[in-house]
Amino acid sequence: MQSFISVVEARAVILQSVAPGPTEQVSLINAQGRTLGKSLQSDADIPPFDNSAMDGFAVRTADLSVLPALLTVIENIPAGAYPSQTVGAMACARIMTGAPFPAGADAVVPVEWTEPVGENRVRVLRAPTAGQYVRAAGQDVKKGKVVVKAGTVVTPPVIGVAAALGYAQLEVYRRPTVAVVSTGDELVAPGIALKPGQIRDSNGPGLAAQARAAGAEVVPPLHAPDDKAAIRSVINHALGADVLLFSGGVSVGDYDYVKEVLDDLGMELLFWKVRQRPGKPLAFGMLHGKPVFGLPGNPVSSSMCFEQYVRPALAKLLGRREVQRPRYAARLAASTVKVPGLHFFTRGIASMGDDGVLEVRDTGPQASNLYTSVVQANCIIHLPEAWEAAPEGAMVEVEWLDW
Ligand code: AMP
Ligand code: MG
Repeated sequence: MQSFISVVEARAVILQSVAPGPTEQVSLINAQGRTLGKSLQSDADIPPFDNSAMDGFAVRTADLSVLPALLTVIENIPAGAYPSQTVGAMACARIMTGAPFPAGADAVVPVEWTEPVGENRVRVLRAPTAGQYVRAAGQDVKKGKVVVKAGTVVTPPVIGVAAALGYAQLEVYRRPTVAVVSTGDELVAPGIALKPGQIRDSNGPGLAAQARAAGAEVVPPLHAPDDKAAIRSVINHALGADVLLFSGGVSVGDYDYVKEVLDDLGMELLFWKVRQRPGKPLAFGMLHGKPVFGLPGNPVSSSMCFEQYVRPALAKLLGRREVQRPRYAARLAASTVKVPGLHFFTRGIASMGDDGVLEVRDTGPQASNLYTSVVQANCIIHLPEAWEAAPEGAMVEVEWLDW
Protein backbone atom coordinates (compact mmCIF):
# COMPACT_ATOMS: atom_id res chain seq x y z
CA MET A 1 0.00 0.00 0.00
CA GLN A 2 1.28 3.43 -0.93
CA SER A 3 0.72 6.45 1.25
CA PHE A 4 0.83 10.18 0.77
CA ILE A 5 1.34 9.86 -3.00
CA SER A 6 1.00 12.58 -5.64
CA VAL A 7 -2.19 13.43 -7.50
CA VAL A 8 -0.71 12.03 -10.71
CA GLU A 9 0.31 8.78 -9.03
CA ALA A 10 -3.10 8.39 -7.40
CA ARG A 11 -4.89 8.85 -10.69
CA ALA A 12 -2.56 6.40 -12.42
CA VAL A 13 -3.15 3.70 -9.76
CA ILE A 14 -6.92 4.12 -10.14
CA LEU A 15 -6.91 4.09 -13.93
CA GLN A 16 -4.69 0.99 -14.00
CA SER A 17 -7.16 -0.80 -11.74
CA VAL A 18 -10.25 -0.40 -13.92
CA ALA A 19 -11.06 -1.55 -17.46
CA PRO A 20 -13.91 -0.80 -19.88
CA GLY A 21 -17.06 -2.78 -19.14
CA PRO A 22 -19.32 -4.75 -21.51
CA THR A 23 -21.39 -3.19 -24.27
CA GLU A 24 -25.10 -3.39 -25.11
CA GLN A 25 -27.41 -2.33 -27.93
CA VAL A 26 -29.75 0.60 -27.37
CA SER A 27 -32.14 2.37 -29.69
CA LEU A 28 -30.75 5.49 -31.31
CA ILE A 29 -32.98 7.88 -29.37
CA ASN A 30 -31.95 6.32 -26.06
CA ALA A 31 -28.24 6.51 -26.84
CA GLN A 32 -27.71 10.15 -25.94
CA GLY A 33 -24.95 10.63 -23.35
CA ARG A 34 -23.79 7.02 -23.67
CA THR A 35 -20.39 6.02 -25.07
CA LEU A 36 -19.98 4.30 -28.42
CA GLY A 37 -18.82 0.70 -28.04
CA LYS A 38 -18.23 0.36 -31.77
CA SER A 39 -17.16 2.94 -34.33
CA LEU A 40 -19.80 4.33 -36.67
CA GLN A 41 -18.86 3.37 -40.20
CA SER A 42 -20.59 4.41 -43.38
CA ASP A 43 -21.96 1.69 -45.67
CA ALA A 44 -22.81 4.25 -48.38
CA ASP A 45 -21.91 7.69 -49.63
CA ILE A 46 -23.52 10.72 -47.98
CA PRO A 47 -25.14 12.32 -49.85
CA PRO A 48 -25.95 9.10 -51.72
CA PHE A 49 -26.24 10.85 -55.12
CA ASP A 50 -25.22 14.11 -56.80
CA ASN A 51 -27.89 16.67 -55.96
CA SER A 52 -28.78 20.31 -56.23
CA ALA A 53 -27.71 22.89 -53.65
CA MET A 54 -30.38 25.35 -54.88
CA ASP A 55 -33.94 25.61 -56.10
CA GLY A 56 -33.47 26.33 -59.81
CA PHE A 57 -32.63 24.61 -63.08
CA ALA A 58 -30.11 21.90 -63.94
CA VAL A 59 -28.37 23.19 -67.08
CA ARG A 60 -25.45 22.57 -69.42
CA THR A 61 -23.05 25.50 -69.05
CA ALA A 62 -22.03 25.03 -72.71
CA ASP A 63 -25.53 26.31 -73.64
CA LEU A 64 -25.03 29.55 -71.74
CA SER A 65 -22.13 31.19 -73.57
CA VAL A 66 -24.57 33.81 -74.91
CA LEU A 67 -26.94 35.42 -72.42
CA PRO A 68 -29.82 35.66 -71.99
CA ALA A 69 -30.36 32.06 -73.14
CA LEU A 70 -33.77 30.48 -73.73
CA LEU A 71 -33.95 26.85 -72.53
CA THR A 72 -36.71 24.24 -72.70
CA VAL A 73 -37.74 22.70 -69.37
CA ILE A 74 -37.90 18.94 -69.98
CA GLU A 75 -38.90 17.78 -66.51
CA ASN A 76 -39.51 18.72 -62.92
CA ILE A 77 -37.35 17.07 -60.22
CA PRO A 78 -38.58 17.67 -56.65
CA ALA A 79 -36.65 16.25 -53.68
CA GLY A 80 -37.50 12.56 -53.35
CA ALA A 81 -38.05 12.07 -57.10
CA TYR A 82 -35.50 10.65 -59.52
CA PRO A 83 -34.75 12.17 -62.99
CA SER A 84 -35.95 10.13 -65.94
CA GLN A 85 -34.29 12.05 -68.75
CA THR A 86 -30.87 13.21 -69.85
CA VAL A 87 -30.56 16.97 -70.29
CA GLY A 88 -29.69 17.67 -73.94
CA ALA A 89 -28.71 20.81 -75.89
CA MET A 90 -30.68 23.97 -74.99
CA ALA A 91 -32.69 22.00 -72.42
CA CYS A 92 -32.83 22.03 -68.64
CA ALA A 93 -34.69 20.41 -65.74
CA ARG A 94 -36.44 22.27 -62.96
CA ILE A 95 -34.81 21.03 -59.76
CA MET A 96 -35.31 21.59 -56.02
CA THR A 97 -32.69 21.68 -53.28
CA GLY A 98 -31.56 18.14 -52.45
CA ALA A 99 -33.15 16.59 -55.54
CA PRO A 100 -31.01 14.19 -57.59
CA PHE A 101 -29.02 15.90 -60.31
CA PRO A 102 -29.86 14.70 -63.84
CA ALA A 103 -27.41 13.25 -66.36
CA GLY A 104 -26.31 15.61 -69.14
CA ALA A 105 -26.38 18.75 -66.98
CA ASP A 106 -23.30 20.17 -65.27
CA ALA A 107 -24.51 23.07 -63.07
CA VAL A 108 -27.55 24.58 -61.40
CA VAL A 109 -28.89 28.04 -62.21
CA PRO A 110 -30.63 29.42 -59.13
CA VAL A 111 -34.24 30.38 -59.83
CA GLU A 112 -33.34 34.02 -59.00
CA TRP A 113 -31.13 34.12 -62.14
CA THR A 114 -34.01 33.17 -64.43
CA GLU A 115 -37.38 34.37 -65.78
CA PRO A 116 -40.19 32.00 -66.78
CA VAL A 117 -41.29 32.08 -70.42
CA GLY A 118 -44.71 30.44 -70.84
CA GLU A 119 -45.38 26.97 -69.42
CA ASN A 120 -42.17 25.09 -70.13
CA ARG A 121 -39.41 27.47 -71.07
CA VAL A 122 -37.08 29.58 -69.02
CA ARG A 123 -34.83 32.53 -69.79
CA VAL A 124 -31.42 32.32 -68.08
CA LEU A 125 -29.97 35.75 -67.28
CA ARG A 126 -26.76 34.72 -65.56
CA ALA A 127 -24.57 31.65 -66.04
CA PRO A 128 -23.15 29.45 -63.27
CA THR A 129 -19.67 27.98 -63.65
CA ALA A 130 -19.42 24.27 -64.43
CA GLY A 131 -20.21 22.27 -61.28
CA GLN A 132 -21.66 25.25 -59.43
CA TYR A 133 -24.48 24.44 -56.95
CA VAL A 134 -24.07 20.70 -57.54
CA ARG A 135 -23.34 18.71 -54.39
CA ALA A 136 -21.34 15.60 -55.23
CA ALA A 137 -22.23 12.15 -53.90
CA GLY A 138 -20.01 11.30 -50.93
CA GLN A 139 -19.08 14.95 -50.38
CA ASP A 140 -19.87 14.72 -46.67
CA VAL A 141 -19.00 11.05 -46.01
CA LYS A 142 -17.40 8.50 -48.33
CA LYS A 143 -18.59 4.89 -48.23
CA GLY A 144 -16.47 2.81 -45.82
CA LYS A 145 -15.29 5.76 -43.75
CA VAL A 146 -15.17 5.62 -39.93
CA VAL A 147 -17.20 8.69 -39.06
CA VAL A 148 -17.19 8.51 -35.25
CA LYS A 149 -14.73 6.40 -33.28
CA ALA A 150 -15.59 3.94 -30.51
CA GLY A 151 -15.11 5.60 -27.14
CA THR A 152 -16.82 8.82 -28.20
CA VAL A 153 -19.70 10.21 -26.17
CA VAL A 154 -23.01 10.14 -28.05
CA THR A 155 -23.74 13.85 -28.39
CA PRO A 156 -26.71 15.27 -30.35
CA PRO A 157 -24.66 15.54 -33.58
CA VAL A 158 -23.48 11.94 -33.14
CA ILE A 159 -27.17 10.93 -32.98
CA GLY A 160 -27.79 12.97 -36.13
CA VAL A 161 -24.91 11.48 -38.07
CA ALA A 162 -25.78 7.96 -36.86
CA ALA A 163 -29.28 8.49 -38.24
CA ALA A 164 -27.78 9.73 -41.53
CA LEU A 165 -25.71 6.54 -41.65
CA GLY A 166 -28.83 4.43 -41.13
CA TYR A 167 -28.23 3.23 -37.56
CA ALA A 168 -31.49 2.47 -35.73
CA GLN A 169 -29.52 1.07 -32.76
CA LEU A 170 -26.12 1.83 -31.33
CA GLU A 171 -23.69 -0.37 -29.50
CA VAL A 172 -22.77 1.48 -26.32
CA TYR A 173 -20.94 0.64 -23.11
CA ARG A 174 -23.16 -0.50 -20.29
CA ARG A 175 -23.50 2.08 -17.54
CA PRO A 176 -21.57 1.03 -14.45
CA THR A 177 -23.63 0.98 -11.27
CA VAL A 178 -22.39 3.00 -8.33
CA ALA A 179 -23.26 2.54 -4.66
CA VAL A 180 -22.86 5.64 -2.51
CA VAL A 181 -22.52 4.92 1.20
CA SER A 182 -22.71 7.82 3.61
CA THR A 183 -21.09 7.02 6.92
CA GLY A 184 -21.52 8.84 10.19
CA ASP A 185 -23.79 8.78 13.23
CA GLU A 186 -24.42 12.50 12.79
CA LEU A 187 -26.13 12.22 9.41
CA VAL A 188 -29.81 12.69 8.73
CA ALA A 189 -31.48 12.59 5.32
CA PRO A 190 -33.19 15.74 4.03
CA GLY A 191 -36.84 15.98 5.07
CA ILE A 192 -36.33 14.69 8.61
CA ALA A 193 -36.08 17.11 11.56
CA LEU A 194 -32.56 17.49 12.98
CA LYS A 195 -31.87 16.70 16.62
CA PRO A 196 -29.09 18.57 18.42
CA GLY A 197 -25.69 17.52 17.06
CA GLN A 198 -27.07 16.12 13.82
CA ILE A 199 -26.37 17.40 10.31
CA ARG A 200 -27.80 16.68 6.91
CA ASP A 201 -26.33 14.01 4.70
CA SER A 202 -25.42 16.20 1.75
CA ASN A 203 -22.70 13.98 0.31
CA GLY A 204 -25.09 11.09 -0.35
CA PRO A 205 -27.35 12.99 -2.76
CA GLY A 206 -24.49 15.16 -4.06
CA LEU A 207 -22.18 12.26 -4.91
CA ALA A 208 -25.05 10.27 -6.42
CA ALA A 209 -25.79 13.23 -8.68
CA GLN A 210 -22.13 13.52 -9.65
CA ALA A 211 -22.08 9.81 -10.50
CA ARG A 212 -25.15 10.20 -12.68
CA ALA A 213 -23.67 13.27 -14.36
CA ALA A 214 -20.56 11.19 -15.07
CA GLY A 215 -22.68 8.61 -16.93
CA ALA A 216 -23.19 5.97 -14.22
CA GLU A 217 -26.32 4.47 -12.72
CA VAL A 218 -26.76 4.88 -8.99
CA VAL A 219 -28.27 2.29 -6.68
CA PRO A 220 -30.55 3.51 -3.83
CA PRO A 221 -28.59 5.50 -1.22
CA LEU A 222 -27.03 3.67 1.70
CA HIS A 223 -26.20 4.94 5.16
CA ALA A 224 -23.91 3.33 7.72
CA PRO A 225 -23.63 4.54 11.30
CA ASP A 226 -20.18 4.59 12.90
CA ASP A 227 -20.36 0.97 13.97
CA LYS A 228 -18.27 -1.83 12.51
CA ALA A 229 -21.04 -4.42 12.25
CA ALA A 230 -23.37 -1.93 10.59
CA ILE A 231 -20.68 -0.82 8.15
CA ARG A 232 -19.96 -4.45 7.31
CA SER A 233 -23.58 -5.25 6.50
CA VAL A 234 -23.93 -2.10 4.37
CA ILE A 235 -20.76 -3.01 2.46
CA ASN A 236 -22.13 -6.47 1.70
CA HIS A 237 -25.19 -4.79 0.30
CA ALA A 238 -23.13 -2.22 -1.67
CA LEU A 239 -21.14 -5.03 -3.30
CA GLY A 240 -24.09 -5.52 -5.65
CA ALA A 241 -22.83 -2.43 -7.51
CA ASP A 242 -19.81 -2.14 -9.82
CA VAL A 243 -18.20 0.77 -7.99
CA LEU A 244 -18.34 1.59 -4.27
CA LEU A 245 -18.08 5.12 -2.93
CA PHE A 246 -17.81 5.79 0.77
CA SER A 247 -18.20 9.24 2.15
CA GLY A 248 -16.53 9.76 5.50
CA GLY A 249 -14.91 7.39 7.91
CA VAL A 250 -11.49 7.27 6.22
CA SER A 251 -9.68 9.86 8.34
CA VAL A 252 -7.85 9.23 11.55
CA GLY A 253 -10.75 10.03 13.90
CA ASP A 254 -11.82 7.65 16.69
CA TYR A 255 -14.85 6.44 14.72
CA ASP A 256 -13.33 6.21 11.24
CA TYR A 257 -13.94 2.49 10.74
CA VAL A 258 -14.52 2.23 7.00
CA LYS A 259 -10.96 1.33 6.03
CA GLU A 260 -10.69 -1.15 8.87
CA VAL A 261 -13.87 -2.99 7.93
CA LEU A 262 -12.95 -3.03 4.24
CA ASP A 263 -9.60 -4.45 5.25
CA ASP A 264 -11.30 -7.23 7.27
CA LEU A 265 -13.43 -8.03 4.23
CA GLY A 266 -10.28 -8.55 2.16
CA MET A 267 -9.95 -5.29 0.30
CA GLU A 268 -6.58 -4.66 -1.27
CA LEU A 269 -5.85 -1.11 -0.19
CA LEU A 270 -3.81 0.46 -3.00
CA PHE A 271 -3.26 3.88 -1.47
CA TRP A 272 -4.30 6.03 1.43
CA LYS A 273 -3.67 9.77 1.54
CA VAL A 274 -2.75 11.94 -1.41
CA ARG A 275 -0.65 15.12 -1.42
CA GLN A 276 -3.62 17.36 -2.15
CA ARG A 277 -6.00 19.87 -0.64
CA PRO A 278 -8.85 19.29 -0.24
CA GLY A 279 -9.12 15.53 0.09
CA LYS A 280 -5.86 14.44 1.68
CA PRO A 281 -7.29 11.30 3.42
CA LEU A 282 -8.57 9.78 0.15
CA ALA A 283 -8.32 5.98 0.15
CA PHE A 284 -8.59 3.62 -2.82
CA GLY A 285 -8.62 -0.13 -3.09
CA MET A 286 -10.07 -3.15 -4.86
CA LEU A 287 -12.58 -5.45 -3.22
CA HIS A 288 -13.74 -8.57 -5.12
CA GLY A 289 -12.51 -6.92 -8.33
CA LYS A 290 -14.47 -3.74 -7.69
CA PRO A 291 -12.97 -0.29 -7.22
CA VAL A 292 -13.67 1.16 -3.79
CA PHE A 293 -13.19 4.84 -3.07
CA GLY A 294 -12.97 6.07 0.50
CA LEU A 295 -13.82 9.72 0.07
CA PRO A 296 -13.21 12.09 2.96
CA GLY A 297 -16.43 13.22 4.63
CA ASN A 298 -16.02 16.95 4.26
CA PRO A 299 -18.34 17.84 1.39
CA VAL A 300 -15.80 19.91 -0.56
CA SER A 301 -13.28 17.08 -0.28
CA SER A 302 -15.67 14.35 -1.35
CA SER A 303 -17.01 16.31 -4.31
CA MET A 304 -13.55 17.37 -5.52
CA CYS A 305 -12.14 13.85 -5.07
CA PHE A 306 -15.05 12.58 -7.09
CA GLU A 307 -14.27 14.94 -9.96
CA GLN A 308 -10.54 14.20 -9.86
CA TYR A 309 -10.61 10.43 -9.37
CA VAL A 310 -14.03 8.80 -9.52
CA ARG A 311 -15.11 10.59 -12.67
CA PRO A 312 -12.06 9.47 -14.72
CA ALA A 313 -12.49 5.92 -13.37
CA LEU A 314 -16.14 5.89 -14.46
CA ALA A 315 -15.11 7.33 -17.83
CA LYS A 316 -12.68 4.45 -18.28
CA LEU A 317 -15.33 1.89 -17.25
CA LEU A 318 -17.58 3.58 -19.80
CA GLY A 319 -15.00 2.98 -22.52
CA ARG A 320 -14.38 6.67 -23.10
CA ARG A 321 -11.25 7.65 -24.98
CA GLU A 322 -10.99 10.93 -23.05
CA VAL A 323 -11.18 10.26 -19.33
CA GLN A 324 -10.18 13.69 -18.13
CA ARG A 325 -11.66 17.06 -18.82
CA PRO A 326 -9.58 19.45 -20.88
CA ARG A 327 -7.78 22.21 -19.04
CA TYR A 328 -7.36 25.81 -20.11
CA ALA A 329 -4.78 28.45 -19.31
CA ALA A 330 -6.08 31.34 -17.23
CA ARG A 331 -4.58 34.27 -15.38
CA LEU A 332 -5.16 34.65 -11.65
CA ALA A 333 -7.05 37.91 -11.22
CA ALA A 334 -6.18 37.92 -7.52
CA SER A 335 -3.80 35.94 -5.38
CA THR A 336 -5.14 32.81 -3.71
CA VAL A 337 -3.97 30.66 -0.83
CA LYS A 338 -1.28 28.06 -1.59
CA VAL A 339 1.22 26.13 0.47
CA PRO A 340 3.99 23.97 -1.02
CA GLY A 341 3.83 20.18 -0.87
CA LEU A 342 0.15 19.77 -1.73
CA HIS A 343 -1.62 20.06 -5.08
CA PHE A 344 -4.58 22.43 -4.61
CA PHE A 345 -8.00 22.03 -6.22
CA THR A 346 -9.13 25.59 -5.65
CA ARG A 347 -12.70 26.37 -6.57
CA GLY A 348 -12.69 29.20 -9.09
CA ILE A 349 -14.85 31.52 -11.10
CA ALA A 350 -13.44 32.13 -14.57
CA SER A 351 -14.55 34.62 -17.18
CA MET A 352 -13.08 36.32 -20.22
CA GLY A 353 -10.95 39.35 -19.32
CA ASP A 354 -11.02 42.65 -21.24
CA ASP A 355 -7.84 41.67 -23.10
CA GLY A 356 -9.34 38.38 -24.29
CA VAL A 357 -7.38 36.27 -21.80
CA LEU A 358 -9.32 33.93 -19.51
CA GLU A 359 -9.24 35.31 -15.97
CA VAL A 360 -9.96 33.37 -12.83
CA ARG A 361 -10.35 34.13 -9.14
CA ASP A 362 -11.13 31.84 -6.24
CA THR A 363 -14.64 31.62 -4.83
CA GLY A 364 -13.52 32.94 -1.43
CA PRO A 365 -12.62 30.92 1.67
CA GLN A 366 -11.55 27.43 0.64
CA ALA A 367 -12.00 25.36 3.82
CA SER A 368 -13.15 21.83 3.03
CA ASN A 369 -16.47 22.15 4.88
CA LEU A 370 -17.59 25.19 2.82
CA TYR A 371 -19.69 23.46 0.20
CA THR A 372 -21.00 26.74 -1.20
CA SER A 373 -17.50 27.20 -2.65
CA VAL A 374 -18.34 24.26 -4.93
CA VAL A 375 -21.80 25.59 -5.71
CA GLN A 376 -20.42 28.95 -6.86
CA ALA A 377 -17.49 27.58 -8.85
CA ASN A 378 -17.49 27.17 -12.61
CA CYS A 379 -14.01 25.68 -12.63
CA ILE A 380 -11.30 24.01 -10.57
CA ILE A 381 -8.02 25.92 -10.44
CA HIS A 382 -5.14 23.44 -10.40
CA LEU A 383 -2.23 24.72 -8.32
CA PRO A 384 0.73 22.33 -8.62
CA GLU A 385 2.25 20.73 -5.58
CA ALA A 386 5.57 22.58 -5.90
CA TRP A 387 4.11 26.09 -5.94
CA GLU A 388 4.86 28.04 -2.78
CA ALA A 389 2.34 30.75 -3.55
CA ALA A 390 -0.28 31.66 -6.15
CA PRO A 391 0.15 35.40 -6.74
CA GLU A 392 -2.05 37.69 -8.81
CA GLY A 393 -1.11 37.50 -12.49
CA ALA A 394 0.18 33.91 -12.34
CA MET A 395 -0.91 31.69 -15.22
CA VAL A 396 -2.80 28.64 -13.95
CA GLU A 397 -4.64 25.66 -15.40
CA VAL A 398 -8.39 25.61 -14.96
CA GLU A 399 -10.68 22.64 -15.44
CA TRP A 400 -14.22 23.58 -16.44
CA LEU A 401 -16.97 22.20 -14.23
CA ASP A 402 -19.42 21.57 -17.02
CA TRP A 403 -22.15 19.98 -15.00
P1 AMP B 1 -15.27 12.12 8.47
O1 AMP B 1 -14.50 11.96 7.17
O2 AMP B 1 -16.24 11.03 8.69
O3 AMP B 1 -14.35 12.35 9.62
O4 AMP B 1 -16.11 13.46 8.30
C1 AMP B 1 -15.48 14.70 8.12
C2 AMP B 1 -16.51 15.82 8.15
O5 AMP B 1 -17.43 15.66 7.09
C3 AMP B 1 -17.35 15.86 9.41
O6 AMP B 1 -17.59 17.21 9.74
C4 AMP B 1 -18.64 15.18 9.01
O7 AMP B 1 -19.73 15.58 9.78
C5 AMP B 1 -18.77 15.63 7.58
N1 AMP B 1 -19.54 14.66 6.81
C6 AMP B 1 -19.28 13.34 6.75
N2 AMP B 1 -20.17 12.72 5.96
C7 AMP B 1 -21.00 13.69 5.50
C8 AMP B 1 -22.13 13.68 4.65
N3 AMP B 1 -22.57 12.55 4.09
N4 AMP B 1 -22.75 14.86 4.37
C9 AMP B 1 -22.29 16.00 4.94
N5 AMP B 1 -21.24 16.06 5.75
C10 AMP B 1 -20.59 14.94 6.04
MG1 MG C 1 -17.48 10.37 10.07
